[in-house]
Amino acid sequence: MRILPVTLGFRGRLVATMVVLVVLVSLAIGALFMAYLFEEERTRALTQLDIGERLTEEVMARRTNLELSRLSVVVQDFGFLSAIASGDRATMESALNNHSQRVDAAFAVLMNQDRQVLASNLAGALPELNNAMFESAIHQGYGRQWLALDGQGFELLLVPVQAPGLRAWMLAGFALGSQTAGVIARLSDTTVLFRARSGDRGDYQAFATSPGVNEAQQESLVQTVSGERYMDNPHYFTRVVPLSGRDNHLQALLLISRDASLQRYYQRAGEVAMLVLGILVAAALLALYLARSLGRPVLQLADYARAVGGDTPAEPPPVQGSGEIRQLNQAFTDMVRRLREREEQIRYTATHDDITGLGNRNALVQFTRSLFQEHRHCSVVGLRLDELSEINDSLGLELGDRVLVGMAKRLREAFTDAQLLARTGGDEFLALLPPMSSGQLEQRALAAAAQLRKPLLLDSTPFSLRISVVTLELPEDAANANEFRRRLNLTFEKASDHPDTVMRYQPGEDESHLRELQLIADLHAAITGDGLIMHYQPKLDLATGQLVQVEALVRWRHPDLGQISPEEFIFLAERSGQIHDLTAHILTLVARDARQWQSQGLDLGVAINLSALDLAWRGLTEHIAHCFRTDEGDVGHLTLEVTEGAVMEDPENAMVVLNELRSLGALISVDDFGTGYSSLSQLRRLPVRELKIDKSFVLNLTDEPQDQLIVKSTIDMAHGLGLKVVAEGIESLDTWALLQSWHCDLGQGFALSRPVPAADLPRVAGELAARRPKLMKHSTETLS
Ligand code: C2E
Ligand code: CA
Ligand code: CA
Repeated sequence: MRILPVTLGFRGRLVATMVVLVVLVSLAIGALFMAYLFEEERTRALTQLDIGERLTEEVMARRTNLELSRLSVVVQDFGFLSAIASGDRATMESALNNHSQRVDAAFAVLMNQDRQVLASNLAGALPELNNAMFESAIHQGYGRQWLALDGQGFELLLVPVQAPGLRAWMLAGFALGSQTAGVIARLSDTTVLFRARSGDRGDYQAFATSPGVNEAQQESLVQTVSGERYMDNPHYFTRVVPLSGRDNHLQALLLISRDASLQRYYQRAGEVAMLVLGILVAAALLALYLARSLGRPVLQLADYARAVGGDTPAEPPPVQGSGEIRQLNQAFTDMVRRLREREEQIRYTATHDDITGLGNRNALVQFTRSLFQEHRHCSVVGLRLDELSEINDSLGLELGDRVLVGMAKRLREAFTDAQLLARTGGDEFLALLPPMSSGQLEQRALAAAAQLRKPLLLDSTPFSLRISVVTLELPEDAANANEFRRRLNLTFEKASDHPDTVMRYQPGEDESHLRELQLIADLHAAITGDGLIMHYQPKLDLATGQLVQVEALVRWRHPDLGQISPEEFIFLAERSGQIHDLTAHILTLVARDARQWQSQGLDLGVAINLSALDLAWRGLTEHIAHCFRTDEGDVGHLTLEVTEGAVMEDPENAMVVLNELRSLGALISVDDFGTGYSSLSQLRRLPVRELKIDKSFVLNLTDEPQDQLIVKSTIDMAHGLGLKVVAEGIESLDTWALLQSWHCDLGQGFALSRPVPAADLPRVAGELAARRPKLMKHSTETLS
């Protein structure tokens, strides 16, 4: 069996406490009452015994009087006196017998003046008689003495026999018997028992009792120690009434049955117990009621507290109570109200910007979340204060804040119909407007921008603000909060490059942006791992048709996005600061491949492309030397292709770096020549060895007279400056022949070979060697 949990609730404790209290009090009162009852019964009994004692004495006195009056008749009887006068013993005895029977005496004795027995009807010897009895008889007319004889009690009465003058003494013994006991018992409402003992120390013997006392009772009572007025007996309240004076040979015992009073006592006790029980039940009921009426509002408040803590809205309970409960309820309701106020305040600060009072980023998140969930439409105007950090830095935060407040005020005026106006970044504001057409939206944005760009008066100093403005439409331009945030940022970035316009988000921008982000992220792994490989495209000597050099072109196959154009990822590497690592890696790869094909007997120069940013890389020269330096101490057969633009960006620095590279033994080639604005005269000052005419002029060379003009004159002029010329993008043998006829030095293009992996180079070299006669023949044919 499981033991009940010992923890009691508030109500349980209340009930338990009350019940225990009532039990204790009731028991105490009950016990007191019972003790009182007990004492009362005892006192009652003792009072009754007192009365009984007095009654006993009274009855004894009456009896004595009666006996004396009878005796006085006897001693005056003529016949009796005559018998005494006769002096004849037989006559005297006969008269004594007659008369003693008449007065109901048990025995009688006749004595002369000298107390000698004249006649007697006593069976045994005459017991010793007190002098005092004779004295009393002389002075008062009678003497009395109690006597226990053979276990019986007797009252001895002594009267003088006068005729006149004392003739004799007459002594009569009256037995104490059940009759006397019965009289006393009846009058005092007690049980009466007479007992006697013969010697001073002997046992008492009962010799008479009132009716209704059985033998066993007699036995038990009679043996009880004497000499005390009360005797302890489990069944009786007892009073000892001594009859025979000091010797105490005769006693009357007055008895009141304890059983009856005990019975009464128990009956009372039962009644008290019933009363206590009744009080208990009443107290328990009262406690329950109190606990309920006290406990219910407390529990209701507890429920309310739980509900307030939870999500569901809660109403205060209709607490009916007074005093403390009402106070508790009041305090509780106040607390809940204050909590709600504070919650309200927290909610307000959580969704509002403390400087401008507009919504904050949280407000935007909440708004767009429900917007997207409910598929609602919305037009967005975004505004960015381009110079806030400058204002903060130079004029202080306080002024910066006032600028923001001023902006917010103007925004409120410009977008009175906004569903949400929020400051969503330090310098960024958004107005979320009801849906409208793109044209309308642009108009609204322009108008607002015009308002906001108006000089703001702060301390009577006008501040003109530069503001980027963008627009987006939801959900057309973004399907979730993340997209929205990203595309907003993207559009703001674009807008900062185009001041004074309203920049609209262009679909697809974000996707390409994301692709770029992914490529930038993955490029690092490709560089450090082995995600990049090199391909090599042959360059042929146009005069001989011989393979003299290859151009190293990097290749990246992205695990998810497939082949990525080097133009795309090199641009991203530049933008993300990875270009030096990339170039360093490429240089390492090419050096390894070049050693490989050299060991296979291929004697080929290699051209490597450098990014514009590589020219600003301090460690470039050292790294190239480290990768390519041969036993002879220089980097023979190495060409470095640098675009026009790269050189022209920072000609001073380019000059230094290119000179360094030149002195290492590398040749410098200007790539994509013709696409920039460098003039040949500028190039002359640089340690450049070669020009690579951009493929855009070569691809359609045979069909474009314009291109032919450019290419031919470039070749001529370059030669004039002592520069070699390379043509790339040769896609047809006709172009090849044309360039040959113009004495272009080197040619490169799909018509000769596509870029191939290093491992294929020996094969490609063989094929080109085999094609060589044909190439040369074709050109002679074309030219002729
Ligand atoms: P680029 O330096 O002008 O390289 C020549 C590009 O023209 C190569 O494209 C090549 O495959 C292509 N090409 C060669 N012959 C023909 C032809 O007959 N017809 C046509 N249509 N194209 C031809 P690719 O490999 O895609 O490289 C593109 C650009 O990427 C390169 O232009 C270069 O600027 C850059 N790049 C490639 N590899 C590297 C590298 O390792 N380092 C650096 N810094 N840039 C590189
Ligand atoms: Ca190139
Ligand atoms: Ca090129």
